[in-house]
Amino acid sequence: MNDRSLRGNYANASLLVRGWTDRTMNGVTRNMIEPQSETGDPELLKRLCRQQQALIKVGSLWRRYEGALTNAAGVVTEAAALALDVGRAGIWTFDSLRSSLENLDLYQADMKRHLRGGRLAAKDYPIYFDALAREEILQVSDAPTAPHTRALFDSYLRPNAIGAMLVAPIHAGARLAGVLCLEHVGGKRHFHQDEINTAVHLASAFSAALEFQYHADERHKMQAHLRDQVALWSIFFEQNRDGISVLRTDGSVYRANKRFADMLGYTVDEAHQLHVWEWDSQFDRDTIMGMLQSVDFSGDHFDTRHQRKDGRVIDVEVTSNGAYYNGTKLIFCNHRDITERKRDQQEIHKLATTDTLTGIASRGEFSRILSEEIDRATRYGRPLALIMYDIDHFKRVNDTFGHHAGDEVLKTVVDLVNEHLRRVDTHGRWGGEEFMVLLPETSLAAALVIAERLCQAIGGQGFDPVGSVTASFGVTLLGQEDGFDVLVKRADEALYRAKNGGRNRVESAVGPATDSVRHNPGANG
Ligand code: GH3
Ligand code: MG
Ligand code: MG
Repeated sequence: MNDRSLRGNYANASLLVRGWTDRTMNGVTRNMIEPQSETGDPELLKRLCRQQQALIKVGSLWRRYEGALTNAAGVVTEAAALALDVGRAGIWTFDSLRSSLENLDLYQADMKRHLRGGRLAAKDYPIYFDALAREEILQVSDAPTAPHTRALFDSYLRPNAIGAMLVAPIHAGARLAGVLCLEHVGGKRHFHQDEINTAVHLASAFSAALEFQYHADERHKMQAHLRDQVALWSIFFEQNRDGISVLRTDGSVYRANKRFADMLGYTVDEAHQLHVWEWDSQFDRDTIMGMLQSVDFSGDHFDTRHQRKDGRVIDVEVTSNGAYYNGTKLIFCNHRDITERKRDQQEIHKLATTDTLTGIASRGEFSRILSEEIDRATRYGRPLALIMYDIDHFKRVNDTFGHHAGDEVLKTVVDLVNEHLRRVDTHGRWGGEEFMVLLPETSLAAALVIAERLCQAIGGQGFDPVGSVTASFGVTLLGQEDGFDVLVKRADEALYRAKNGGRNRVESAVGPATDSVRHNPGANG
């Protein structure tokens, strides 16, 4: 048969088969295929019909066998064995280095069975592998003697009685991924052009399945990655112990987590309707708008106060940073409720700075304020007076009336003194029944007047059940050269003199330049 008549016959046969295909689509079964010779070559028609049947079997293989590549390979090898009427058909895939071929499926037509797992190494069959690497169709009519395949003779061709081979390349991702290998059991065999074409089509069908598998793998990897990201994000966002809000630059809420809504006593839906100024009670609307505009990637960190839906105000620490998302600037904020922490801090501060019995400054706190005031008065050349007073014969109070009565006296004396002081003055407990009063912007004369008033107030007070109590006072004024210790020492010396001078009195002491002045309210009235 010459080339021309082959093409003519093929065209007629195609027409016939196309007619059959159309009918099948309308529900007519496969049994109706009957090669009808219009050309007078029943052999050719039989061959073409076999091929057509095989091609139909592998139609949309990639879709039918998604995720089941070995099954797809089995369908192709069976179809190939049928189509080309060969004893064996195999699909082999390369490893990533193309240093070996592994058998994915091998169909043995006579036994109607599928095998798998055979392996050929490139180093053992370099010429065969070189030929495959050229990605051409390899037609070997006499395999035991052909240069490409004769190396396979002892190990593969002879044991399997293979006489001829047709090998078509399989591609995936635009690279050679494997081969479809049709093996004729028996002697020599010449493969017709239509058979070669069909082998190429069958290899392509598997290429599509392989390609689809690669894409599906990529997609699954991507989906797993996305799932992972979403899971991480939702754990972070929803289970965070801080409130999280994502804000737009106009102050509205883009997203808020449940913790944030809970913190403010709203539902999440309600929180999404809010604007920052509806919950922030520390900053006004203009200030907030300014903050929203100015916050950048480096972020901001500040303490503020939030007003809850029920009106209660809480202390909140906010960490925020701006970022662009979908072309819009958003501000990501963390809100941590620090109300308790603030309260604890205030409590600790109070414990550390105040005397628990009397509520006035502790010795430490008084010393701190005294140092500050000395610095300030020295720097600006301002007067600063210090009074030190001590309750007279207090031991007797304790001894006679008990420690509790003594405590009550201390509290009453402190309250009395407080009544005579200004807001800028500091009253501190120096130790036991010894106290200090710091009077900024006060001259020695003015301080003496105050001390005398205090002395009289205490002396004139009735203490139940103790009766009357007196105290002695030492007054001094900060000199230009004075430091903390000098000033305190001088107040102490003045107090000592008041004690020695008979108690219930005020003594003063100033720096070396000035003489001490003696005051006795009892004597001078
Ligand atoms: P003087 O006139 O010389 O100051 O005599 P005094 O008895 O007041 O002085 P002294 O230093 O001998 O005694 C002070 C007493 O104050 C002794 C101590 O038990 C008592 N005291 C110190 N702190 C407290 C306190 O917190 N509560 C009570 N109830 N007594 C205290
Ligand atoms: Mg005393
Ligand atoms: Mg004392």
